[in-house]
Amino acid sequence: MLSIVSTPIWNLEDITLRALRTLREADIIACEDTRTSWVLLHHYEISKPLISFHAHSWDVKVEKIITLLQEWKHVALISDAGTPGISDPAYILVKRAIEEQITIVPIPGASAVLSALVGSWMHMHDFRFLGFLPVKKGRETMFKSLINKDYTVVVYESVHRILRTLSDMEKYLGADHQIVVARELTKKFEEFKHGTIQECRTHFEQNICKGEFVIIF
Ligand code: SAM
Repeated sequence: MLSIVSTPIWNLEDITLRALRTLREADIIACEDTRTSWVLLHHYEISKPLISFHAHSWDVKVEKIITLLQEWKHVALISDAGTPGISDPAYILVKRAIEEQITIVPIPGASAVLSALVGSWMHMHDFRFLGFLPVKKGRETMFKSLINKDYTVVVYESVHRILRTLSDMEKYLGADHQIVVARELTKKFEEFKHGTIQECRTHFEQNICKGEFVIIF
């Protein structure tokens, strides 16, 4: 059985009782970075064998985990933060497990996309989550395809590209387009910046621009 277990995006209180029980019951925990996950699990006093897999070594590691699952081991899959598979490499393992007809049990919990969306003022009956925007190829086409959209869009962005993305959004969607930038969700300096693209860009240019970001527009 492969349990897909959501863990906090930062605040360690954001984990479900079911997630904790599943992690305690699992034979092995598959994770992205063993050091990151060891710290997390140590906090909950959970000690289990860890097996890492990440985008670079996924082919070998995923097959190793598939073998364990075929030996009837209970593997709990976690990612560095949030819900495995949402903009992280976990989906690769899930896909392979489904191909091998292994039972999949998702354990829901924290994810930056939903926390940002429900804390924004944007309508949420029709939204599209695009994950990370293309960095080079397809970036312009992507922005152009969103110019006349009639639904809410949610994207993830890193500290390295937030200003460039806001600047590109200003260019393609217009300086007056209303957006929300959610920063450092569940952390001490959680922030929701509402306003036009120009206002948000100026705000993050003028203030110390740190952390993890979700943009909603
Ligand atoms: N699996 C995670 C989830 O369920 O949200 C997402 C992993 S993805 C590799 C990392 C990106 O998620 C960050 O670059 C950021 O855009 C977003 N993110 C994760 N944690 C966040 C937080 N605490 N505040 C704002 N954005 C966050």
